[in-house]
Amino acid sequence: MNEKNKTIQEPLIGAHVGIGGGLSKAIPRALEIGANCIQIFVSAPQQWREPAHPDEEVQLFIDAYNQSNFRAIFLHAIYLLNPAAPNTELREKSISSIISYLHWGKRLGAQGVVIHLGSSSGTTREEAEKNLVNSVKTALDNTDEVPVLLETSAGTKNSLGSTFDDLARILYKIGDTKRAAICLDTAHIWAAGYDLSSEDAVNQTFEEFDQKIGLDKLKLIHANDTNVRIGGGRDRHENIGEGIIGERGWKALLTNPGIRFKPWILETPQIADKNSGAEQIKKLRQWWEGKDDIGN
Ligand SMILES: [Zn+2]
Ligand SMILES: [Zn+2]
Repeated sequence: MNEKNKTIQEPLIGAHVGIGGGLSKAIPRALEIGANCIQIFVSAPQQWREPAHPDEEVQLFIDAYNQSNFRAIFLHAIYLLNPAAPNTELREKSISSIISYLHWGKRLGAQGVVIHLGSSSGTTREEAEKNLVNSVKTALDNTDEVPVLLETSAGTKNSLGSTFDDLARILYKIGDTKRAAICLDTAHIWAAGYDLSSEDAVNQTFEEFDQKIGLDKLKLIHANDTNVRIGGGRDRHENIGEGIIGERGWKALLTNPGIRFKPWILETPQIADKNSGAEQIKKLRQWWEGKDDIGN
């Protein structure tokens, strides 16, 4: 194998890391657990406060990122967003927050900003979907370069975007843009009823994704195990190897030719723990390479 092939065949496996103590602190945290791609919040996810970081800190982040072996960076929008809300004030606050994250994404060189699609609570699903589509379009019209990645939802009551049909229709309505794509969360699609427990199941799930949405629209995978039963409609993440997707499912996912070269970002409960985080990333890397167990 020549050097070039070696580079191409390297898996992109990383984690959501915290920015406590400053933006640039995310880089050593990710390096410590063996990640080569990262996802961060650039502001507190439970607050509406705009992201604010000193210029020096931003430069430190960019320098550290460039010196690392990282190959991709994603931002995750705040949790308070509801771009589908019937309430104008909430919807407008959501759009402003997405726009601000898209600006930060551009500044930091991110490959995308992940957003949750919100809920239809207080209105009809049709109206909520229309609001969502308009909100995303407005955010895109007021920014450039960085794509919005619509995250698949777990199918919790009233949440939008839990089926491939819904996501395909939403993307279609947003229109012909390279700046709207999908972030697929394994724990969420499992909870929404997509089977990932075996090679056949994984093949079938991603054939359906390809038919309805297109694998070229899949820009990021959130790699989370779960103990929610399939179709359970609840959003609960579990550490890799401690959930019911299990080793067989993960191996099928990580070796699937249609998706294995996508970036895989862990958002599991213990990912911030140095030992557990490193162990979980190591597991995924070994399964990606088709090996059986740690140490083989
Ligand atoms: Zn998310
Ligand atoms: Zn996720």
